[in-house]
Amino acid sequence: MLATVLHGPRDVRYEQVDEPSIILPTDAIIKLSATCVCGSDLWPYRGLQPMDGPLHMGHEYCGVVAEVGREVKTVKPGQFVVGSFCLSDNTCPHCQYGFQSSCVQREFMSGAQAPYARVPLADGTLVPTAAVPSEDLIPSLLAASDVLGTGWYAADAARVKPGSTAVVVGDGAVGLMGVLSAKQMGAERIIAMSRHSRRQALALEYGATDIVSARGEEGVAQIKALTHGIGADSVLECVGTQESMKQAIQCTRPGGVVGYVGVPHGVELSGQSLFFSQIGMLGGPAPVRRFLPHLMELVLNRSINPGKVFDLQIPLADVADGYRAMDERRAIKTLLRV
Ligand SMILES: [Zn+2]
Repeated sequence: MLATVLHGPRDVRYEQVDEPSIILPTDAIIKLSATCVCGSDLWPYRGLQPMDGPLHMGHEYCGVVAEVGREVKTVKPGQFVVGSFCLSDNTCPHCQYGFQSSCVQREFMSGAQAPYARVPLADGTLVPTAAVPSEDLIPSLLAASDVLGTGWYAADAARVKPGSTAVVVGDGAVGLMGVLSAKQMGAERIIAMSRHSRRQALALEYGATDIVSARGEEGVAQIKALTHGIGADSVLECVGTQESMKQAIQCTRPGGVVGYVGVPHGVELSGQSLFFSQIGMLGGPAPVRRFLPHLMELVLNRSINPGKVFDLQIPLADVADGYRAMDERRAIKTLLRV
């Protein structure tokens, strides 16, 4: 089959690869309904992450089960499933505690920007739907696999509650999903930090009440001004740079919490300033599996429309164009039709 392989910086090819097959009895093979390009795919694409060899790209997926290994019990061929980018057994102590992204058997999904993909730990990772969903829900179900699950985790980790004030740092797809999630969790005020008009518009549609376009000290000053000098109860950090993390910490009120889901690149924190900030911090790779059943239900009953975050939809064969559009920030997120 043809699939997506990254050979080096900005060299992504749609080329011949081996079809995936069952390797372990706990594996499943799925036929993708759609897949997409993640903001985190841009790190190796831009040459900012070391590579040992060609990478089979893609970790966001949903589709129909084609084949299962002999030990797989909870899904069967023909069922529509969504899975997390973190593969987990869903039975170990960390999984049971709701942190499937730290599963003792954790692996990261790869090779999903393809017509077929192998999903290890299928029983613990995949969540089936009762029936094959209608075509128009596919983008939103795909979003649940990573970008929505990650935005939701940022809000959950930041302890967004009904009536609270939340700040979302970052207007990428995850940040926008963070706005949607904070809204669903009942935040009364949601301040989105964004400098791009199209992203601002989507943030407002997803429930943002205020937009702050300034960054750094000026951005923090505007957040303080909007919150009567107090700061926000919950701050969702969805970027992962030194500047964004610092901004997130400084926007948080004493006793508030930062939920950080941007993969850190060059972030260093000072113990002194953390000590006197008196804030809580929880983050890391999102345990999407914990939230998947709830998020899929919200999508299936049409309470939320996270699929709108895909502002470019192209055939999988044109995947290189999809990477380029996101790299140049012409697209928020690219959906690849299989
Ligand atoms: Zn586990």
